[in-house]
Amino acid sequence: MPRPRRLSPARAALLGPALDRFQRGYDAAARIGFDPVELPRRYRDPGDAELVGLLAAALAYGRADLFKPQLEKVLAAMGPEPARFAAALAERPEAGPFAAFRYRFNRPEDVAALVAAAGWLRREHGSLGARFAALLGEEQGSGEALRRALARFGRELREAPPVAGLLRRRGRRGLAHLLPDAALPGACKRWNLYLRWMVRGPDAVDLGLWRGVSPAVLCIPLDTHVARIARYLGLTDRSDLTWRTAAEITANLRLLDPADPVRFDFALCHLGMSGACPARRDPQKCAACPLREHCRAKARGAGRQPDCGFRSTP
Ligand code: SF4
Repeated sequence: MPRPRRLSPARAALLGPALDRFQRGYDAAARIGFDPVELPRRYRDPGDAELVGLLAAALAYGRADLFKPQLEKVLAAMGPEPARFAAALAERPEAGPFAAFRYRFNRPEDVAALVAAAGWLRREHGSLGARFAALLGEEQGSGEALRRALARFGRELREAPPVAGLLRRRGRRGLAHLLPDAALPGACKRWNLYLRWMVRGPDAVDLGLWRGVSPAVLCIPLDTHVARIARYLGLTDRSDLTWRTAAEITANLRLLDPADPVRFDFALCHLGMSGACPARRDPQKCAACPLREHCRAKARGAGRQPDCGFRSTP
């Protein structure tokens, strides 16, 4: 097995200030409307925001212009106090309020199970953040504490008492996709995105609601955009979207900012999502890119970037 890529001190000393300038100068306000984090940001009540954040992160797969209208239907069905709605649904589980929802292979029962499970966990522990912080505390010192806490958190939601009745006829596959098992090899991008939203900040992007968890322990939400650009920047040589790759990238980002290693994520992700760093070479875009001095793949002509062939692991 190849050894993890580790930034040299000299390269870290150059890349750190460059990424810092890039992240601080990034116009997040111009991109927030394209990102599902704008949904939890609509709510002032922390309970509503953490609940809507869980829904938005769980359903943030595929294209944003397709899943966001479905999320709007879910939020409309829950009314102005989603946490109160979830608490009531945990008492009387039913899928009826979400009858208008359809997204890929997820159906109203899956969303109802997710909302009712979150309502139940909040009732048992006060908040989702309190429960996650407690699990993380129990896993400290075990190695991969964040991942192990996430695996337990997901399992508690998937196995919450209101879930069984809602999914009796449908089966558990839909909820298993919405709440993936962090013990499996996948990068768990949506889980790590949810944690970033809840733990980091507050700032122009993230909400900073879960004060019981340190931003220092977070793992980067790895998707194709972040993986590709991280590779360009020499943060990894790996070509798979796995937790191992996310951990390697995060370990290198931690050399640049030990207290807040995933603060670069929004800007890096949207650099790719927006098309400012396309998968196909574009010399004009590279010439304007603030990271060009540190990029191993900056364009020298037309054609596909040499190192963007990422393999997805579910
Ligand atoms: S220099 Fe070009 S390839 Fe490199 S990150 Fe910037 S836009 Fe992407």
